[in-house]
Amino acid sequence: MAKILNGVEIAAAIKAEVAAEARALMAAGITPGLTVVLVGHMAASEIYVRSKVKASAELGIRSEMLTPKESVTTEEMLALIADLNAREDVDGILIQLPLPKHVDTRRLLEAVDPAKDVDGFHPINAGRLESGQPGLRPCTPEGILEILRRSGLPVAGQHAVVLGRSDIVGKPVAMLLLHANATVTVCHSKTVDIGRYTRDADILVAAIGRPGFVTAEMVKPGATLIDVGINRVTDAAEVARFFPGDLERAAQFAKRGSTLVGDIDPAAFALAGAYTPVPGGVGALTIAMLMHNTVKAAKARRGGMAAGGA
Ligand code: NAP
Repeated sequence: MAKILNGVEIAAAIKAEVAAEARALMAAGITPGLTVVLVGHMAASEIYVRSKVKASAELGIRSEMLTPKESVTTEEMLALIADLNAREDVDGILIQLPLPKHVDTRRLLEAVDPAKDVDGFHPINAGRLESGQPGLRPCTPEGILEILRRSGLPVAGQHAVVLGRSDIVGKPVAMLLLHANATVTVCHSKTVDIGRYTRDADILVAAIGRPGFVTAEMVKPGATLIDVGINRVTDAAEVARFFPGDLERAAQFAKRGSTLVGDIDPAAFALAGAYTPVPGGVGALTIAMLMHNTVKAAKARRGGMAAGGA
C-alpha cells in the first residue's frame, strides 16, 4: 500500500517552526517583513498573493502588498525595487509572476537584492545553490526536499529522475537532489523515450505541466513519486479517465466544472512506495517555504546570524 505524503501536514509543521523563529526574532526587537508586488489584476495571481499575505499574518511576519497598475513601466518597477532594497524593515521581496509582457521580467528579478530574494530566483542565489554555498533557495524545490527529509525517505544513493528543466522547479530541484547525494537524471521535451529513464527512477519528480503524463507503465514499483504539476482539467471524459469510480472527484467536478490533476496519472500511485497527491502534496509546501525564507533572510540580514545552509 503506497504511503501518501501529506503536504498539508508537513507544511503545518514547518509553519509552526517558522512562527517560533519569528517570535524569537521579535523578542530581539526584529519583526520579519515581506513585501509582495502584484502588478495588474490577474485572478490566479491575486489568489496566490492573498494566501501569502494571510500566511504571513498567521506566523507573525509583517507583510505588505504593493499593487502597481498594469501599465507600469520597467523603469518605474526598477525604482520601486530600489526603494524596497533600501528599506531596513523589508526582509523579503517577492515579485509575483507572470508580469505583463511589456515589462522586462529578467531585469526586475536581477534588480532584487539577493539577500531579500525570498523566491530564490536571482542569478546570484541560483549560482550559490549550484556551488553548494548558503543562500536563499527556490520555495517549491526546497519544499520537495523537505517532504523527502521529513518523511524519512532515502535520497543519498538513489536514482532521482526529474521531468522538467525550468529555472523555477526542474533545475533547482535537480541541484538540491544532487547535493543530497542522489544520482540525478533530468528529462525535458527533447528527451527521447522518457519512459526508459522514469522506469529506473527510485525518486521521480514530475514538473512539466502535462496532466497525467506519467502513466503506470512508466513507473518502477515501489518508487517515490513527487507530483509537482498543477493542471486544471475541465473535460468530463478526462476526469472520468483519471479518477474512475471516484465519487468525491465526480461531485467536485459537477459543482465546479473543473478539477486538479498532477503530471502523474493517479493510476500510477497504486504502484508507488510513497507519493504526493494533487492537491495536498507539493503545492502546500510552497508558501510554507516562502515564510521560512523570509525569516531566514531576516535572521541573516538583521539578526546577526549566518544565512544557514541548504
Ligand atoms: P515550465 O516553465 O513550463 O517548464 C516545463 C518544463 O517541462 C520544461 O522544461 C519543458 O521542457 C518540460 N516539458 C514540457 N512538456 C514536456 C513533455 N511532453 N515531455 C517532457 N518534458 C516536457 O513549467 P514549471 O514552471 O516548471 O511548472 C511545471 C508544473 O509545475 C506546472 O504544472 C506548474 O503549474 C507546476 N508548479 C507547481 C508549483 C507548486 O507549488 N506545486 C510551483 C511551480 C510550478 P523544455 O525545457 O524542453 O521546454
